[in-house]
Amino acid sequence: MIAQPHDIEGLKEAGRRLGAILERLAGEVRFGISTLELDTLAEQWIREGGDEPCFKGYNPGGPAGGFPNACCISVNDEVVHGLPRAERALKEGDIISLDLGLSHKGYVMDSALTVPVGSPAKVQSKVLELLAVTENALAEGVAAAKVGSRIGDISHAIEETYKGTGFSIVKALGGHGVGAEVHEEPFIANFGHEGTGPEIVPGMVLALEPIATNGKASVLVAPDGFTYRTRDGSWAAHFEHTILVLEDETVVLTKRPSEK
Ligand code: MG
Ligand code: MG
Repeated sequence: MIAQPHDIEGLKEAGRRLGAILERLAGEVRFGISTLELDTLAEQWIREGGDEPCFKGYNPGGPAGGFPNACCISVNDEVVHGLPRAERALKEGDIISLDLGLSHKGYVMDSALTVPVGSPAKVQSKVLELLAVTENALAEGVAAAKVGSRIGDISHAIEETYKGTGFSIVKALGGHGVGAEVHEEPFIANFGHEGTGPEIVPGMVLALEPIATNGKASVLVAPDGFTYRTRDGSWAAHFEHTILVLEDETVVLTKRPSEK
């Protein structure tokens, strides 16, 4: 989507709504809650605001009927597109990625974060570092998303953040255009060369989403047809924001209330 001036307020409102819901949802993450219960809350809050959970029924070539839930919830070695399940109760020391989308007056937002379940002290320090580096990679990607730069500059900035960390970028997955549909052009790889790819122009609405593991990068799709997991059982982190590039600034539309 290339936003026009009359789209900007609607995009900002859509992003504020998603940021607030995602933060509220992360606040519900605790020992014993199931991933399906979290999904039910997310859908309820989106609908209470008069908006649509746009991942529900979304089907980019997957099983018939599309994704059955509002929120993709991926735990530990699940990487993305995790299917919420009643029998998947969270344990202290797990990490959970919440990836949520909504459509507000036709403006589509996409955002994700990964958080520890319970006390962070129960999570391996290397895994906490993976979360911190991935959140930082997202910030570096956002900083590189400026009018006149290229998509490859974002990819490169994200890749650079992981240099020397020992973590693996999941190269099969990446960011994308968004705003009018869940997935639009261009694909935004989380690795690449500066000065390559499409030029970044005013009005672009982009979802940036670094995804990395504390092991190898190879992923497979589980028998449910949706859930990506790591092949080696390593754990994964995923942070995502939808941004709007304007002539003189880049706006993080899905910024959460507690984020700076
Ligand atoms: Mg997402
Ligand atoms: Mg996305």
